Amino acid sequence: MIAVVKESATEDQIGHFVDWIESKGLRADISKGTGETIIGLVGDTTQIDPFLVESMDIIDRVQRVSEPFKRANRKFHPLDTVVDCGHGVKIGGGNFNVIAGPCSVEGENLFRIARAVKEAGATLLRGGAYKPRTSPYSYQGMGEAGLDLLAEARDELDMPIVTEIMDPRDVQQFVDRNIEVWQIGARNAQNFPLLKEVGKTQTPILLKRGVAGTIDELLMAAEYIMSEGNPNVILCERGIRTFERRTRNTFDLNAVPVLRQLSHLPVCADPSHATGYTRYVVPMALAATAAGADCLEIEVHDDPSHAWSDGAQALTPKMFREAMARIAKVREAVAGEVE
Ligand code: PEP
Ligand code: MN
Repeated sequence: MIAVVKESATEDQIGHFVDWIESKGLRADISKGTGETIIGLVGDTTQIDPFLVESMDIIDRVQRVSEPFKRANRKFHPLDTVVDCGHGVKIGGGNFNVIAGPCSVEGENLFRIARAVKEAGATLLRGGAYKPRTSPYSYQGMGEAGLDLLAEARDELDMPIVTEIMDPRDVQQFVDRNIEVWQIGARNAQNFPLLKEVGKTQTPILLKRGVAGTIDELLMAAEYIMSEGNPNVILCERGIRTFERRTRNTFDLNAVPVLRQLSHLPVCADPSHATGYTRYVVPMALAATAAGADCLEIEVHDDPSHAWSDGAQALTPKMFREAMARIAKVREAVAGEVE
């Protein structure tokens, strides 16, 4: 349920209303937009009489929100959320960003790749230190040593880091190194204890859609994080599993405008995991940009044939540089339409 507050309402009156909501065992989510204040009632609202709320002096109107996701819902928060990733990088609300780097952190080559992607215009550096692999015999990532390398690259290049967290027991390692953006991978999109744990921080979370997850399941995963108090969630479409075998996954680009419609959270798109092949990454990066993504995540490796994971979908730094120039042109062409 949302209550739209009259413009004449004072802070004091809004405060009393919030106390009343809380006395009913609910939580109030206040969103101040341009000219309108919206108070979202979160929790079991079946005991609340909407007519009673509507009859209150400061309330303009009341609307039931039927979707099970509340805090992630645009009805609760009409304006786009802007997630501040530090180092001057903000995602959402018209701010477009590109996250780039290798699939895995492998060693000193991280610095070469990081410098190249930064020079080409990437604004965040990615690299996995903990890798969710289908086989337990595949490379599992450098772990803490990988996080150290990422932090070193971040300090050298003054750009925020994006790296995957797989285990709630690793939170302290990420906090100690001030990792700016924690990625929740597709395989953990419904790992509820992990979602709750990262929800207890204020760290920006790049939340990937599950391999076979629906859009609503992605939004409910975001809700898990937000319900613990962390509003800084970036949703990421990374391809879903279908009957198609010519690509690693099927890039559900519908999800980009659908998520932007349903939610105020920034939307990222990952054409690397979505397609699985280098030759398809750039066309789909352009398509995702045209569809209105707030952010792209692209894997880049300086020697893809020797990459420790996902070499088949990596762009070289040169390909990435050329892609960035084309992405900029698409942004220019669609500017205004998708914001
Ligand atoms: C990754 O970003 O390297 C990754 C493993 O992504 P996903 O969870 O989308 O497969
Ligand atoms: Mn990868």
